[in-house]
Amino acid sequence: MKKETKAIHTPFQKRDAYGALSFPVYNTVAYEFDSAQIMTEAFAGRVSEPDYSRVMNPTVTYFENRVKALSDADNVFALTTGMAAIFHTLLVFAEAGKTIVMSNHLFGNTFSLITTTLARLGVKAQIADFSNLGLLDKTIADDACLIFAEYITNPQLEMVDIKKLSEIAHKRGLPLIVDTTAIPFTEVDARELGIDVEVLSSTKYISGGATSLGGLILDYGTFPEVKRRMSMEFLFNIGSYMTPQVAYMQTIGLETLKVRYDKQAQNALDLARLLQQVPQVKRVNYPGLQLQKPFGAMLTIDLETEQKCYDFLNSLRLIRRATNLFDSKSLAIHPYSTIFVNFTPEEKKKMDVFDTTIRLSMGLEDVNDLYEDIVQALGQ
Ligand SMILES: *Cc1c(COP(=O)(O)O)cnc(C)c1O
Repeated sequence: MKKETKAIHTPFQKRDAYGALSFPVYNTVAYEFDSAQIMTEAFAGRVSEPDYSRVMNPTVTYFENRVKALSDADNVFALTTGMAAIFHTLLVFAEAGKTIVMSNHLFGNTFSLITTTLARLGVKAQIADFSNLGLLDKTIADDACLIFAEYITNPQLEMVDIKKLSEIAHKRGLPLIVDTTAIPFTEVDARELGIDVEVLSSTKYISGGATSLGGLILDYGTFPEVKRRMSMEFLFNIGSYMTPQVAYMQTIGLETLKVRYDKQAQNALDLARLLQQVPQVKRVNYPGLQLQKPFGAMLTIDLETEQKCYDFLNSLRLIRRATNLFDSKSLAIHPYSTIFVNFTPEEKKKMDVFDTTIRLSMGLEDVNDLYEDIVQALGQ
């Protein structure tokens, strides 16, 4: 079956008592057992029956099963946010005295999680230019514990050679962890690329019209400690498991993911091509321009000055001034003064985050309406 079909018809774990077609929201904290013996088995993890919803809930399990059916992953874990998914995955491998090897182009909060929060616990960071993998190969820290990259970086839209990066990681026995939020996981052949653990914010494409926050860990089974620590330790001790209401909404979101993505990515490509012809736009950055096909629904434009970016944002009538990505509504933001506001100008320079850049997230509107809004906002 094709992914579109599987996304609609993933079987339930158990037949629903009423034959419900949508998997019900199990809004319950605990579950009753038929006997003390079965209860012991469940608590010991020897049978896969839910006992407490901090650790397992049927609605969340159904969502995880559906993601698993659409991917090549061995294990899927659904958490409360993308940041929680990233934090848990890093925590599987990182410890005091060890070094996380990371790109200088990372989502602002991920950058800060590693260099501020984990640093306080004694974890070190090696911030490297992943566009020069030859140099990285020669300079990787001896005490490295993992390599972390983004598939398409946000907002620089850089794509590193993931296959090469995975060779560099694997010859040292290191896991390669990749954040694929910028494109649906169904479009990434993670196992083929040599990714060990894929992390993503399901808040973005999957939630379907920005209904809810969520994060996913897709574990390709190459490092058994991921499953062990997640299911035996972190879900219990940290408590960031997805809630059933969110799992329900995001299960519905998965059903329409492909049609939404195709349209949003086509909008992004069409708009990128149109904006290349607009004189006030100094540069259009969209990976699909080089690849000559729709590729993600995020693009950036550079205007002449920071002030022009503010004027542009304030003149938009249709496109919304908001953070978030891949809502059904198109969104615009000035990353330099918002997402990256807590970094110094020097730090932002090292990250290639510029004060002249506007990030656009393409929604489901008609592309000509979006183009007209942009052109009028540029004062043409
Ligand atoms: C939004 C985002 C995250 C964080 O996800 P949340 O669900 O907001 O916690 C992580 N990485 C990237 C690339 C993102 O765009």
